[in-house]
Amino acid sequence: MAEPLSIIEATDRYTARNYARYPVAFVSGRGSRLFDEKGRAYLDFFSGLAVSSLGHGHTGLARAIAEQAATLIHTSNLYYNEPAARLAERLVRRTFADRVFFCNSGTEANEAAIKMARRSDPRRHEIVSAYRSFHGRTLGALAATGQPDLQEGFGPMPGGFVHVPYDDVDATRAAVGNRTAAVLVEPIIGEGGVLVPAAGYLAALRKLCDEAGALLIFDEVQTGVGRTGTLYMYEQLGVTPDILTTAKGLGGGFPIGAVLATEKAAAAFVPGSHGSTFGANPLACAAASAVLDALDAGVLENAKRSGEHLGKRLEALAKKHACIVEARGHGLLRGIELDRPTRPLVENALERGLIANATAGNVIRIIPPLVIQTAEIDEGIDILDRVIGEAST
Ligand code: PLP
Repeated sequence: MAEPLSIIEATDRYTARNYARYPVAFVSGRGSRLFDEKGRAYLDFFSGLAVSSLGHGHTGLARAIAEQAATLIHTSNLYYNEPAARLAERLVRRTFADRVFFCNSGTEANEAAIKMARRSDPRRHEIVSAYRSFHGRTLGALAATGQPDLQEGFGPMPGGFVHVPYDDVDATRAAVGNRTAAVLVEPIIGEGGVLVPAAGYLAALRKLCDEAGALLIFDEVQTGVGRTGTLYMYEQLGVTPDILTTAKGLGGGFPIGAVLATEKAAAAFVPGSHGSTFGANPLACAAASAVLDALDAGVLENAKRSGEHLGKRLEALAKKHACIVEARGHGLLRGIELDRPTRPLVENALERGLIANATAGNVIRIIPPLVIQTAEIDEGIDILDRVIGEAST
């Protein structure tokens, strides 16, 4: 019999070629560390793309998933189920929202939000979003995504999507009118390079939308679930959207997405207008409730503390290395922009046992688990310090 292929060989041989993977297969994890097949430990500054909010091997999350899996995994939305009811109640109590729609991912949450906004007012269909934004890969969310290179080859894009520069109130004002169903915006652009808008930008969008009769949608798929120090970032801004999309960290690694909406916006959905086979399934909802339990039990506090520490360390790093253009971000969503491509640096960091992310060409994105400790942040920053130092010589 032929030797079985390795994990990497089998993946490269049998899966679609749409990912540029790093040559590591992780097999287990604990806290902010991942372990590869040979047992080598890696410090996680990435949390599986801002997803593993409670880190790896979290006992409460693992127990909640195991118990729910042994009790009831799926029933469909033709019936009621307790984990979904409890999670919806909790999200509504904790946020501006009156109603929740559950789905399975960030892109699905944005599809649902776009559909909700369009159906809210049949005279309006345009969605205004920002260049450099990322809203997902399904066609509606992709059309809203302000990165033409990601749309290449998939056209024609659905119509009715208008892009304006991020953090530009005047350009948005010029684009918003009586055809605008909603302005869709990330409170901090994540994938597009960790771009933090000027103070007042999101409040200005709120005002613009109110004046034009359009809805304001915050895509908090990346900024949400504690990543910026509060459950959702809008809480820190004094600006409340009509609709908010969330996913990534919500299930701590278990797939779940949700649309949070005011009563008025949610009224667009009536029986039959939208749906999801897996959405609101008991297993995903139980996982998300376990994540919210842990956030309340101290993880949110830790995220705030560690996020501030990370910010200080990155500022010092930016002062030290001339090749750093800027260190920016908020909480545990941070980016270091360099004057050069960052993938080689991220590869070097990986070889030294640190998982970080290269995004937008020249940005190193740092999005650790929310349970990361300040000593672990120091350890990772020391590695980045060496990697950046070597690259600049
Ligand atoms: N919206 C934002 C802000 C994101 O960062 C992402 C993913 O990176 C998405 C939407 C899409 O989420 P998903 O990959 O779960 O579909």
